[in-house]
Amino acid sequence: FRENYKKYIEDLKKRSKEFSEPVSEKFSDLPLSKETLRGLRDNGYVTMTEIQRKAIFLALKGRDILGAAKTGSGKTLCFLIPILEDLLKHYWSPIFGLGALVITPTRELAYQIFEVLRKIGKQHHFSAGLVIGGKDLSAEQQLISRMCILICTPGRLLQHMDETELFELKELRILVLDEADRILDLGFEKTVNAIIATLPKRRQTLLFSATQTKSVKDLARLSLQDAEYVAVYEQP
Ligand code: ADP
Ligand code: MG
Repeated sequence: FRENYKKYIEDLKKRSKEFSEPVSEKFSDLPLSKETLRGLRDNGYVTMTEIQRKAIFLALKGRDILGAAKTGSGKTLCFLIPILEDLLKHYWSPIFGLGALVITPTRELAYQIFEVLRKIGKQHHFSAGLVIGGKDLSAEQQLISRMCILICTPGRLLQHMDETELFELKELRILVLDEADRILDLGFEKTVNAIIATLPKRRQTLLFSATQTKSVKDLARLSLQDAEYVAVYEQP
């Protein structure tokens, strides 16, 4: 069984590395694990949106992404799918520390992302937590050290980085900056810069934003390396 599982994972790695570009619009034609495909299918996700078709396969190859598409275009799956796949390919377990960190501007958005993750990640065995404040800090502290994936708001995250001893970020593989324009509009620029400064340099970063302002570009320059720019423009 172990050998078979290892072969399954190695094959998945190889397929996503060699994949060039989706010719079809179906999730099932992407080089995804059967766990993720089942999670998508069970929740009615069959056909990719345009940003998903352009961004997911590149993220699966490990590329940094600067993604621009308006609200409602399906950006959440553009980062949740690559997170699940990457952690699976690295046999991730919380003993390695945190594997993926998603920063999003508001509690409501964090809840929404967490819900989507819970649904599409159901067949996986990764632990995931919400760090959004409003709860007891020590209760969150207990949880944090046992998570593979965290969905956070910036202020609360920084507080934990300062105060939570067992918060291990050295092995972090993926950072997501979701709704980067709103993060900056809400005045979190310094906070996010401080967070990025403490993260390992060798990581994958996926930055999504509805608009491309100058401050988003500054944040992109600071956080991304050799990024693919993926944009979906509105029809005039
Ligand atoms: P954004 O982050 O770009 O604002 P979301 O990821 O929140 O967009 O998705 C917007 C809505 O579209 C959600 O209700 C989501 O369930 C739905 N959605 C996303 N991708 C798909 C898809 N491939 N097929 C069907 N519905 C989708
Ligand atoms: Mg979104």
